[in-house]
Amino acid sequence: MKKQDSKSNSAPIEESGLMNLFKDELKDIYWAEKHLAKALPKMAKGATSEELRSSIEQHLTETENQISRLEQVFELLGVKAAGKKCEAMEGLVEEGKTMLEETEDGSMTRDAAIISSAQKIEHYEIASYGTLKTLANTLGMSEAASLLEQTLNEEKNTDVKLTQIAEGFVNESAGAEKE
Ligand code: FE
Ligand code: FE
Ligand code: FE
Repeated sequence: MKKQDSKSNSAPIEESGLMNLFKDELKDIYWAEKHLAKALPKMAKGATSEELRSSIEQHLTETENQISRLEQVFELLGVKAAGKKCEAMEGLVEEGKTMLEETEDGSMTRDAAIISSAQKIEHYEIASYGTLKTLANTLGMSEAASLLEQTLNEEKNTDVKLTQIAEGFVNESAGAEKE
């Protein structure tokens, strides 16, 4: 890697490759969150336990907030909020739909499937917001970094909560169900 030891040959930060990467990643997660907001009600509706259903509904409210936070980040950048198709989220949501179809309505196996798919989604979001927060800090955008960190923490908490639900009762009850 070439060492950059002079400021004269470095691009202004607004035009840097890293800034472009930051904007692209922002558009990706903006599309992903909006896509997810449309899918979450179906996941909640498909849940067997009240606990899982209400957790997903609560995360839908958080997701709507996260979309507003992203719009604030776009505003800080002085660019119009716009999404760019996230193929990963499209695939994760698609896989979640298939898992719903392949498990019996009213079963705890259904809940175990929803939790599995929801956690894969949360992990994608955790990776995305972790990267975005780091990029924002590197680019000297501390206000954006703090907005992205708030969302990162919500995604992490959601993941922990899903694990607690699975370990609390879902997996054990599902284990007693017939195929
Ligand atoms: Fe999210
Ligand atoms: Fe993506
Ligand atoms: Fe999430």
